[in-house]
Amino acid sequence: MQPTSMELNQLLKYVREMKKHRGFDGTSLEQEMVLFTEEVGELAREVGRWIKTGSFTAENRRDLAYEAVDCLIYLLSIANMAGIEDIEKYLLEKEAINTRRFE
Ligand SMILES: [Mg+2]
Repeated sequence: MQPTSMELNQLLKYVREMKKHRGFDGTSLEQEMVLFTEEVGELAREVGRWIKTGSFTAENRRDLAYEAVDCLIYLLSIANMAGIEDIEKYLLEKEAINTRRFE
């Protein structure tokens, strides 16, 4: 089961199905939140390496992207647990709110 290029709602559905397929669909919301937070820490570690070295190689970029993807997967997993099926609708609504706030 491999994702291809996809829209956000398709990615949301992919994460839901991937978790079932891998047997990870029994986690609690608390466990999911801890795992998400761990992934944010891993992303922060990669950003820290970037800041510390002051350079950004293709390998750094790949490692940072992998951690960003891990964060995205857990973020969408939490959205799935909340029963959100059309996150694109909420993205558009929230961005409209944000746009008004910053105009
Ligand atoms: Mg990770």
